[in-house]
Amino acid sequence: MSDAVMEFDDSSSAAVRPARRALDGVGERPLAGAGRDWRAASVLIGLYAVALAGFWVLGMVEAEVLGALLGMIAVGAAGFWWVAHSGLVRKMRHRHLKLAIVATALAGMMVLCYLAPVTQILLTPFTFVAVAYGIFVVPRRTLLALAGAVAAAYALVVGLHHVQQQNSALLRLEVLHLMALVVSLPAFIVLLGKVQSLYRSLHQASRKIKNIQEDAQRDPLVGCFNRRYVLAALEEQKQLADESGIPLCLAVLDIDHFKRINDELGHLGGDEVLRNFARIAQQGVRGGDVFGRYGGEEFLLIFPGTSLLPALNTCERIRAQVESYAWNGLLRGRVTVSIGVTQYVLGESVLEFFSRADTAMYMAKEGGRNQVVVEEPVVRGDSLMAEASGYPTL
Ligand code: GH3
Ligand code: MG
Ligand code: MG
Repeated sequence: MSDAVMEFDDSSSAAVRPARRALDGVGERPLAGAGRDWRAASVLIGLYAVALAGFWVLGMVEAEVLGALLGMIAVGAAGFWWVAHSGLVRKMRHRHLKLAIVATALAGMMVLCYLAPVTQILLTPFTFVAVAYGIFVVPRRTLLALAGAVAAAYALVVGLHHVQQQNSALLRLEVLHLMALVVSLPAFIVLLGKVQSLYRSLHQASRKIKNIQEDAQRDPLVGCFNRRYVLAALEEQKQLADESGIPLCLAVLDIDHFKRINDELGHLGGDEVLRNFARIAQQGVRGGDVFGRYGGEEFLLIFPGTSLLPALNTCERIRAQVESYAWNGLLRGRVTVSIGVTQYVLGESVLEFFSRADTAMYMAKEGGRNQVVVEEPVVRGDSLMAEASGYPTL
């Protein structure tokens, strides 16, 4: 592992950043799509209600109209509450849910337009708001069809008003309003559709970048973290330990007589052993620990915030699990691992820290393999770990 010397200085920020993210346990936690939809829809409907309340305050609509709006909001909210709590929302596609919200809002506005023609001044701006709310998810063609339905419903409202009120001034005003809506709404949807395409491309690109970032951290053969990631994480953890004084431990794990395994099973068989070994080891570590492949049949295990005794116990558990794993016939009882473990001494270099764990691993080899050896750092003459552990120490 002498080439380790070169690697430890490679703590470029690009390599360290993902390490900090994983070690801090800060993953990406997307908001539940449906929850976000409800909130946005409630705000928009609330704004419409405020605008209508303004009409009522100015004495331009009866209290019944406001009551009708509140009634429709209550019915709509109850309907969507049922969709959310009956589990239907999980089966629905996101775009169908959004389309249902937009269509319900538009239908409600149309009813109010019919009940109180004076409120139609709100129709156009809030139709645009509702369509904009759905634009990133609902396909453009569906929105254009919805715009057609809005125009048809509004034409029906205009016709009903004319039949009931025979008011030619109102008819002229409403026909002009209808024409304005018919011309501008499709144009708005087409233009905003460009933004929708841009949004989709950005979304796809960010997903690809995320996949590439994840691949860059993984070992392609065994799937655990790779050498670059684990060394960056080690550098990162050393700095955190220096800043905070919390303990930090490191283990070097090396599969015993792996060359023989390769000779007997072939390289593909050896690869399978490596994959199984990595899986066993990973199952034995805590969420905050970082396990990665250093190279060949050698692995590193970093224990942030852990002192020597618990780290040693984890190593011993991994060693025992590897030994007792139900390897296939030929290998049973013959796949073992030698592990060296040590604790970080504040202020030392990563190389000194690593070398101590590496030396301990070689001591485990010399001691007969299939064992854990602790290199117990001595600080100001004090032992960091009680002798009670009974493990060989250097
Ligand atoms: P020791 O107990 O002293 O560690 O002996 P060993 O045989 O495990 O160690 P040695 O370093 O002599 O051999 C390691 C072998 O691991 C040699 C190499 O061919 C093999 N190896 C390295 N990388 C891979 C890999 O990706 N797949 C497979 N199948 N074998 C690998
Ligand atoms: Mg080796
Ligand atoms: Mg080996």
